[in-house]
Amino acid sequence: MQIAKRMNLLGTETAFEVLAEVNKLKATGKDIISFAIGEPDFNTPSNIIRAGIKSLQEGYTHYGPSVGLLPFRESIARYVSRTRGIKVEPEEVVVTPGAKPMIFFSILACINEGDEVIYPNPGFPTYESVINFVGAQSIPLPLLEEKDFRFDVKILREKISERTRMIIINSPQNPTGGILTEADLKEIASLAISNNIWVLSDEIYCHMVYDGNFRSIISLPGMKERTILLDGFSKTYAMTGWRLGFGVMDSELAANFTRLATNSVSCTATFTQMAGLEGLEGSQKESQEMIREFKTRRDMIVELLNDIKGISCKKPGGAFYVYPNVTEVCRKLKLKDSKELQHYLLYEAGVAVLAGTCFGSKNQEETQEYIRLSYAASRENIREGLRRIKEAVEK
Ligand code: PLP
Repeated sequence: MQIAKRMNLLGTETAFEVLAEVNKLKATGKDIISFAIGEPDFNTPSNIIRAGIKSLQEGYTHYGPSVGLLPFRESIARYVSRTRGIKVEPEEVVVTPGAKPMIFFSILACINEGDEVIYPNPGFPTYESVINFVGAQSIPLPLLEEKDFRFDVKILREKISERTRMIIINSPQNPTGGILTEADLKEIASLAISNNIWVLSDEIYCHMVYDGNFRSIISLPGMKERTILLDGFSKTYAMTGWRLGFGVMDSELAANFTRLATNSVSCTATFTQMAGLEGLEGSQKESQEMIREFKTRRDMIVELLNDIKGISCKKPGGAFYVYPNVTEVCRKLKLKDSKELQHYLLYEAGVAVLAGTCFGSKNQEETQEYIRLSYAASRENIREGLRRIKEAVEK
């Protein structure tokens, strides 16, 4: 049977493959500590679970509007207006099953074949994959360790051409935990405005900023009409399995996103939306406790990593990832690259991490090797996992 050619253009998210490998090893009785998957190890806050159950009992079990339930979109509009300091209307909000469809919809709705889209590298793999899928050119923007995993403005300027239609940004960032500064955002805004470019701002980690305040590009003058803001419930409220995300954009674009939703997912589960409403309007206590715990773990894992010979790790400002430089360790163990180190750590130390190259090919002239660890793991597992890594790489 024939598979469509375009499927060759679509990539994957290696984290899910590693997760399958880890589960297979665990099933054979192997003791594996995993830092591979990017989801909170906390339960969804209890008030949100209760709201979900209540809405199921109240009959929120049917189709809903493709764009999302009005009371929920009103709540999102209030939340975004409050947190980003701009006026958002419910007509500018589209609800999706998880934040990921927002990436798909943004590129499908805004990008033509042959257009160019700039995206962060290393970065969340879906960006590059979907850009390629629609026949556009994916233009990686290197994130640099020496700049705390921000980009060099000069390089960004050079990457913009007449065909650039969109810049994707993600701050706090997956996989590096890096955060763009206000000056970076201003620079992107000014380039986007002068070159008439969309900005897709992936703000899914906006509540996980540990030193200082979160800033969104949509708050800058002239940016609301050209920004697609993506946010969701997976990380902030530990709701990965519920599938709940949303986008904020110009209302005409929102109508186009709604048509994409009608033609693909139909709608987002309505009881999930009612649970999300409680997330935004109800007690933030459990979510805030989780985020405080992530900060403690960040400090802990950075210290433990820097205590291993051959590993150096910058302290990231947000999300729940660290992205240590493991070049020396690879050299010492005669491993070709971080992919081989990922394999070595899984089989020799019983620790699952992801190679930097799971988040995009190496940038030109890049000589360093990195791995990503998610510290959405208990303190006990962080301590034991890091002990195992130290033993396996220092022996
Ligand atoms: N954007 C980034 C940067 C992510 O890291 C993730 C999930 O890992 C998503 C979007 C997708 O989130 P969701 O699970 O809500 O689809």
